[in-house]
Amino acid sequence: MENQRSHRLVLIPPPFQGHITPMLHLATILYSRGFSITLAHPHFNSPDPSNHPNFTFLPFFDGLAGTHISSNNLSNIVITLNATCASPLKELLVGELMKAKVKNEKIACIIYDSSMYFADSVARELKLPTILFQTTSASNLLTYHAFAPLHSKGYLPLRGSGSLDLVPGLDPLRFKDLSVFNLANLDALLQTNAKMLAVTPSLGIICNTVDFLEQPFLDQLRQLYQPSIVNFFAIGPLHMIAEESCSRSSSLLEEDYSCISWLNNQPKKSVLYVSLGSIASWEEKELSEVACGLANSMQRFLWVIRPGTINDVSEWEKSLPEEVKIAIAERGCIVKWVPQGKVLAHKAIGGFWSHCGWNSTLESLCEGVPIMCQPNFGDQRVNARLLSHVWRVGLEWSNIIEKGEIEGAIRRLMVSPEGKEMRQSALKLKQELRVAAIGGSSYDALNRMINNVLSANL
Ligand code: UDP
Repeated sequence: MENQRSHRLVLIPPPFQGHITPMLHLATILYSRGFSITLAHPHFNSPDPSNHPNFTFLPFFDGLAGTHISSNNLSNIVITLNATCASPLKELLVGELMKAKVKNEKIACIIYDSSMYFADSVARELKLPTILFQTTSASNLLTYHAFAPLHSKGYLPLRGSGSLDLVPGLDPLRFKDLSVFNLANLDALLQTNAKMLAVTPSLGIICNTVDFLEQPFLDQLRQLYQPSIVNFFAIGPLHMIAEESCSRSSSLLEEDYSCISWLNNQPKKSVLYVSLGSIASWEEKELSEVACGLANSMQRFLWVIRPGTINDVSEWEKSLPEEVKIAIAERGCIVKWVPQGKVLAHKAIGGFWSHCGWNSTLESLCEGVPIMCQPNFGDQRVNARLLSHVWRVGLEWSNIIEKGEIEGAIRRLMVSPEGKEMRQSALKLKQELRVAAIGGSSYDALNRMINNVLSANL
């Protein structure tokens, strides 16, 4: 262990909650295995160093001052980061190499998020080993590999009525499940995607997933990467493995713990947890339909309305119909941001109305909570399809934000035999995930990956 503490890993996340969280979990796990940890991160959306006193946090210039993250500008942010950050990162790493020399340490590996692909050539220039960290599912990564061939065969952009057709080679995914479906800036995405896939990290790829969850997709990926990248490590769910090493909060927003006291007073499995993660949101006019649907479903609910979704939540609440206000007071709890892991683990939670981000998906699966799927953009439709059609723990519904549709979907998830079946499948998956994470395939992959890093630094 002491010997390894002289091996420093530099991890490079992008400034998005859904990417920072799993990277900090990975850092926590690797710290517990004896490595020293540095987080080199963009200034924008910096993680809170006080939550991780054992790590060194080094911000670098990112050119993102004044940026607001929305689903519309995500690819522009990624393009800006990759165009701007190479020199600042190189300067930072040169400084780290000098410090390491003085401390008799070694920079053993640069672990960069797949969207920070500029880091690969910077590390290569400095002769440092690299690992790419994929925070979305293996299935989603496989779809990235399919875009260029689908484009050249004329499938994309999709025209006409083929949205429900299965994508050749990616069964059960349909064209409408792909992140490129219905996209205004398809060319920009294809270009970024090509750059992202062109990197060849010297020590391999870590994907936050579990072998048995995505076996057919992982098999295809492993075939694709050979022989250019020999190692593909399915190490997940990272938050579950990190729990064993006492993981700390990685939240960029303040977590409101009052919801836990509220949950403590609710019956077992009676509450629907409602959240669209850190980027997706309902429009202001949709919020009232959601409120009416929740109220009419007669179920209890804990609802996250993120800051910035609406100007003044209490003014908006006053404008709701009287019976909806009563339902919120009697059966609801509305908050700005919650400690989601603790919420999903709470015995009062019976279902999750989710945008199906990959972290939320894994967090829900690990707690045996079935999901009412409302995917919005990016990988979310792929995840929703896996939830509903592969693991059978996700409810596919019309996704029409209208109170009657919402009420029906909530009842299906929370009180119908269909929902009960999903809850049972979810509980079974929960057990299987624990086995994989604690002593199974993910544990083995983690050991192989660590051995790889150590061998590369002999
Ligand atoms: N999250 C949270 N509190 C909330 C809502 C979300 O801590 O009130 C966390 C959640 O646990 C997850 C992350 O935010 O780890 C969201 O990541 P995900 O991949 O699900 O979606 P994204 O935000 O990237 O779209």
